Amino acid sequence: MKKIINMGIKGRIVLYFTAFILLMLVVIWVVQISLLGVFYRRTKLHELDEVSQTVSSYLGTGSLEDITYEMSTKYKICMIVFETSGDELGRQVVSVESTPMCLIHHLTPGALGEFYSKALASGGRFVERFTMGKGLVQDVPRGSAGDDGDGGEERRNGGDEVTMAVSVISASGRDGKSYAIFADTEFTQMHTAETLLNTQFLWLAGSIVLLTAFVAYIFAVNISRPLTNMNESAKKLAAGDYEPNFRVEGYRETRELAETLNFAASEISRSDRLQRELIANVSHDLRTPLTMISGYAEVMRDIPGENTPENVQVIIDESNHLSALVNDMLDLSKIEAGVKKPEKTGFSLTTAVSEVLERYSQLREHDGYSIEFEHGEDVSVCADRTMILQVLYNLVNNAINYCGADKKVIVTQSVAESESGESVRITVRDHGEGISPENIPLVWDRYYRVDKLHKRSSVGSGLGLSIVKRILQQHGALFGVESVPGEGSAFWFELPCTRRQADAEGPERPREK
Ligand code: ADP
Repeated sequence: MKKIINMGIKGRIVLYFTAFILLMLVVIWVVQISLLGVFYRRTKLHELDEVSQTVSSYLGTGSLEDITYEMSTKYKICMIVFETSGDELGRQVVSVESTPMCLIHHLTPGALGEFYSKALASGGRFVERFTMGKGLVQDVPRGSAGDDGDGGEERRNGGDEVTMAVSVISASGRDGKSYAIFADTEFTQMHTAETLLNTQFLWLAGSIVLLTAFVAYIFAVNISRPLTNMNESAKKLAAGDYEPNFRVEGYRETRELAETLNFAASEISRSDRLQRELIANVSHDLRTPLTMISGYAEVMRDIPGENTPENVQVIIDESNHLSALVNDMLDLSKIEAGVKKPEKTGFSLTTAVSEVLERYSQLREHDGYSIEFEHGEDVSVCADRTMILQVLYNLVNNAINYCGADKKVIVTQSVAESESGESVRITVRDHGEGISPENIPLVWDRYYRVDKLHKRSSVGSGLGLSIVKRILQQHGALFGVESVPGEGSAFWFELPCTRRQADAEGPERPREK
């Protein structure tokens, strides 16, 4: 049993095919050969009965002799028709001896009369089988009479014995007289035929089984080949070769499986590549501020007079950058793991945006950045305030980082009508280098940077837009970017409005923060 469980697909197909064919052969053998004798005897007795019945319907007519002769020779059945009176057999009307082995023509009148009496006793019909020695036909061993004809064992004695069936019918003719029809037929000895058929069948069955096993093996090889190849490829995959090398071949299921595995392999390869990039980026991003911090601290410790406020500021800035980086990583992993879920509350988006931009006021003073907020009426939304501010913070930060020479960032709030109601759109626009069309879909990916040199001046963690994307997706918000290289970019997102408060001063107006 264990061997069968461990058996491969090839072995199983050959085994099942061969077992099925063997079963079929056994069924054929039982029906065709083993039961041959039984079917043969039944058919013979049925013929004997049919012929007697046919002849009986011509009793007392002119065609009785012809029909008896015709039926006797056709079915090799010997027949005698007697006229009868009471339980006595009278004159012979017809007699046909169509086979050399005929019993009724060799019986004594007494024996015939005895048969007739038995027919009368059993309602006008009598059928019996006899097995007897050749040449002793006069000596009918009635005591050894067989059964009703369909199951009895024939005694086989090297061909010295024959089995015969005798039928006696008592019937009335059309001329009003009574008749008795005697008929007998010989059962051919079946054992020679059976031995012959058995031998023939053995050879046939052997050849069929061998042929089946061979054909099943060819099938099995064809069916199992794609699976075997796939197994080899899967082993390579497990060993770290992520190239999609599953051959799309064979039948539909294996082709689909190969396509799925190829897709899975390419996904594993992609995520493996991303993971490597992630480790490289993270280690680079963490190492740089740490080197700066420890470098400056050592200088301040070892060199007298270097303990200046500027140097301390560098350490503070780098620490801030480091903590921002670590926070971004934590945020993104929390959002991706589903730990951080939006807690929606109603709040004024207009006021919240104004507050965020307020925080940049110092920047404006020191570095000469100009950040404008153009908005009209005060609009409220239902969202996670902290998360939405984080989105805004990331977009404005990027706009400042990539804004170019004019150092100008414009944030716009606009309200639009849509089928699902009113929605508010916040757009953060700059006049920097912009993003080329092929990079636009990629900027939302983790650690994607258009500037592959990973410029330190670009300050960011490379996670900002991924965080923006996840937060907005969690809110079911629309978002996007329009950018023209050399002219600048406009990052935007849309949230459904919950409440609008008409601005007392009328339509939209620019307002600098
Ligand atoms: P980073 O920390 O590098 O800014 P982000 O995920 O915020 O990471 O942005 C991904 C990339 O998208 C940036 O490296 C930059 O190349 C590009 N990008 C983002 N915002 C802008 C913008 N306003 N103008 C031009 N490029 C931008």
